[in-house]
Amino acid sequence: MPVSLKDEDRLLSTVPAGLLIDGSWRPAASGKTFDVEDPATGKSLMAVADAGPEDGLAALDAAAAAQGSWALVPPRERGEILRRAFELVTERAENFALLMTLEMGKPLAEARVEVKYAAEFLRWFSEEAVRTFGRYSIAPEGASRLLVTKKPVGPCLLITPWNFPLAMATRKIAPAVAAGCTMVLKPANLTPLTSQLFAALMQEAGLPAGVLNVIPTSTAGATTGPLVTDPRLRKISFTGSTDVGRRLMANAAETVLRTSMELGGNAPFVVFEDADIDAAVDGAMAAKMRNMGEACTAANRFIVHETVANEFTEKFAARLSELTPARGTEAHSTLGPLIDAKSRDKIHQLVTAALDAGAIAVTGGAAVEGPGYFYQPTILTGVTAGARILSEEIFGPVAPIITFATEDDAIHLANNTEYGLAAYVYTNDFNRGLRMGERLETGMLGLNTGAISNAAAPFGGVKQSGLGREGGLEGIHEYLYTQYIAIPDPTKVN
Ligand code: NAP
Repeated sequence: MPVSLKDEDRLLSTVPAGLLIDGSWRPAASGKTFDVEDPATGKSLMAVADAGPEDGLAALDAAAAAQGSWALVPPRERGEILRRAFELVTERAENFALLMTLEMGKPLAEARVEVKYAAEFLRWFSEEAVRTFGRYSIAPEGASRLLVTKKPVGPCLLITPWNFPLAMATRKIAPAVAAGCTMVLKPANLTPLTSQLFAALMQEAGLPAGVLNVIPTSTAGATTGPLVTDPRLRKISFTGSTDVGRRLMANAAETVLRTSMELGGNAPFVVFEDADIDAAVDGAMAAKMRNMGEACTAANRFIVHETVANEFTEKFAARLSELTPARGTEAHSTLGPLIDAKSRDKIHQLVTAALDAGAIAVTGGAAVEGPGYFYQPTILTGVTAGARILSEEIFGPVAPIITFATEDDAIHLANNTEYGLAAYVYTNDFNRGLRMGERLETGMLGLNTGAISNAAAPFGGVKQSGLGREGGLEGIHEYLYTQYIAIPDPTKVN
């Protein structure tokens, strides 16, 4: 059934417009609001409360007050809240998908995939909540015992980006809930509505007041700044750009705040001469075009063996020509708009600079006329070494292709970046694939696949792509600290 304007209005009327502080939705202390826009039309969807520093601190007050009792809630109960949240998100998948399409722009089919992925973090951490085991051991010299336990780190500040509004929220909230931490969530001002609807769902799932507080704001730095340096805050988990991450880490140093940083990427997509080219093109579509290229894991540089570069380029271009840019609610849409005019203009500048330096646009190379911030799917060949488009995160549907001759060249080109989040390698030589895994400086590698995200896998980067891991067995440990208790040898004590 096509989505009607009535469906949209009905859904928007269910989204809380206030700040969630200590279990109640309330206006900002200043009374201010800001508008959230549909990037496919440029029109306002609705206004939400605009938190300021005073509201941020009220949210931290609530999180700090709830921490003690929340940490004592049995892990099974915490897990069951997450499990109920998983069931509710799954039941209401269409609402979440539509809301993300409205505020972020991705086609509905992609939004549905994100809802599933996001829900998996709730299910995964509902299971992990009861598995935060410590250990008991005999000290090597035998005279004492070592008891090691895991404890919640305490109140957390969670900051999420706009590109995956639901998944980035559940990827942080679910492990924090499972570990017994309270939190203040600050969603991106471009896409706060999904977090608002999700927070209301967490209340319905039984999350006690004060455990999750949500503060949409148009003044991210000013509103979260006082929290970052407040000694009651014990952790910051941030997903966003490397620039902002760096600044937050500098501020966090003041109170030696524990940090998890999921930052930018510049993923290489390497295609060897022995690869299945059709499979590589399928992978390229997933790794480049998912979310209109607005993903930290997006393939940013295509590094293709010189003997297969023409075939790969032609087939990839043919697939891109099948994409239809349209508002994500339209059934025929396979390419949504970019998030805003600034983002579209930055992408076009990168493309123009590459073309001016001699690159060729095999397809695309320009914005699509409005309304909305659409950009043509684009392939560039002949990009010169050192071009900005090879070193900066493109965050759009643009694929620069460069060629290589030897495996060593491919590795050198792939590692030649300050980022180290994801990489993709296509080869039918298993040993070569493993060798690439050993030599590539990235936190994640897709070997003959363009889709790597999975709630059960540790997601994260190295180098300037960040610190820490989300998901997998590792994810919950970002929200736990280790305590060691020394005990005398019980066989010598009566
Ligand atoms: P961004 O500009 O860094 O913003 C990320 C979040 O930080 C937003 O909530 C933003 O709020 C907030 N923020 C901005 N300045 C801040 C400050 N001074 N203090 C506190 N918070 C601040 O990044 P973005 O444009 O939203 O997202 C795209 C970036 O995220 C890309 O670099 C992408 O690679 C990265 N990303 C990484 C991962 C990963 O897992 N590694 C996943 C997704 C995205 P406002 O938006 O309200 O200003």
